[in-house]
Amino acid sequence: MRGKLDLDEQPLVLIWEVTQACELACKHCRADAQPRRHPDELSTAEGKALLDQAREFGDGQLVVLSGGDPLAREDLPELIDYGTEQGLRMTLTPSGTNSLTRDRLAELDDAGLRRLALSIDGGDSESHDTFRGESGSFEATMEAAEAARDLDIPLQINTTVCAETVEQLPAIRDLVADLDAVLWSVFFLVPVGRGRVLTPIDPDRAERVLSWLHEVSEEASFGLKTTEAPHYRRVAIQNQDEGASGLKRRMGIRAGKGFAFVSHTGEVFPSGFLPKSAGSVREESVVDIYRESSLFQQLRDDDALTGKCGACRYRTVCGGSRSRAYATTGDPLAADPLCDYQPDGFEGSVPDQHPAD
Ligand code: SF4
Repeated sequence: MRGKLDLDEQPLVLIWEVTQACELACKHCRADAQPRRHPDELSTAEGKALLDQAREFGDGQLVVLSGGDPLAREDLPELIDYGTEQGLRMTLTPSGTNSLTRDRLAELDDAGLRRLALSIDGGDSESHDTFRGESGSFEATMEAAEAARDLDIPLQINTTVCAETVEQLPAIRDLVADLDAVLWSVFFLVPVGRGRVLTPIDPDRAERVLSWLHEVSEEASFGLKTTEAPHYRRVAIQNQDEGASGLKRRMGIRAGKGFAFVSHTGEVFPSGFLPKSAGSVREESVVDIYRESSLFQQLRDDDALTGKCGACRYRTVCGGSRSRAYATTGDPLAADPLCDYQPDGFEGSVPDQHPAD
């Protein structure tokens, strides 16, 4: 499916943050999650209207229900069932809490859930729970992973890469394999929300991690993708020594170009880590916002990029993290400060990784 998508027309992934409510207080939470649901969250009827819109992107549109903790919404099975009836591929990123029981997973499975994505940020309970700020989170996550396996729900593992977690990556890779996950999604920290308290790795370390991930991907039983590190594609191409034809075959998925994010109150952002609204689904269709808003169109224009990303031969397949550029400079078209690559002939400066205020 991915190779056939026209990213000007349809995102590969549409994420809906169904709530910001969550029992956990993870150090890195993008959403600044709160214990209670927001009174202005999209209602069940508004959520179904959003799913009706999503169907207009095309058959089999992938929808990720995220949070907060989506399980904080009692209408979650109803929303999954409704989306599935519309022909959408409904997936879920719940928090690792005790509310993620086998019975609830079975209920979501019956409703049509296509994939479960769980977060693992440490190779054992001590490192994971310290990072998540909740004792018992690792155990709850492992139990949910076992239940997903028993129910034949494909499992995805999400991991945050920052200075606090980077040494854990080999142990987490082993867990991903042991759990029979289908995909390891490796997210490189963007300093938004509570993530500002964490420490990003530096560009040199990022380069080595990306090369290591590429080696892992060549041997692993699971798929591997990065989030907010599109230069993984540049590293993969360089490591495979591909020529220009290889570059053309790969699609550059990034915020606003293959990604769209709907907040708990219906605002449409290019990604959850680029909180710049292009409109509200309460006023216009997410399809129109994705295809026609100036913000999304600008983010899809590889020639609009500035700094070294604008000068880079890999900008079509990579283009850098637009979210990190926005978080660190206030300009979503600026260079990604996490990238170590120096394009031929480029002599300008590169922003550092401190958040812009
Ligand atoms: S300079 Fe920008 S476009 Fe080029 S590889 Fe790095 S992040 Fe990607």
